[in-house]
Amino acid sequence: MNSIKITEEDCRQILIDLKWDSKPKCNCGCTKLYFLSTRNIYKCSSCKKQFSVISDTIFKSAKITLKKWFTAIALVEGGNVSTVQLGKVLEIQQCAAWKIKDKIKKALKEEDKIVLSVSELMK
Ligand SMILES: [Zn+2]
Repeated sequence: MNSIKITEEDCRQILIDLKWDSKPKCNCGCTKLYFLSTRNIYKCSSCKKQFSVISDTIFKSAKITLKKWFTAIALVEGGNVSTVQLGKVLEIQQCAAWKIKDKIKKALKEEDKIVLSVSELMK
């Protein structure tokens, strides 16, 4: 597993590529965006909505780094990881690990494009 070498910025770029085909875009269809780099947030020049690469993805559901999410996806996809082990690896409480594991399992079952692609990348 290559989770050790991957950086947070790599993860973010991977998500930008997967979600928007490398070109960030607002839900309204507009591609003219302002980027607030301190918070990694985009602001749409048409509808003024603010969003980020994790909006509308499972990554929004827990406040852990993308690197940890990617590691979690690899572990859950790989099979027999317990919530105790997952919590240790991610340095979070077991109940939080359980929620993350549940989210990932559901996403894999529903063939979430982004989660499936990340699990492929992490093999
Ligand atoms: Zn917009």
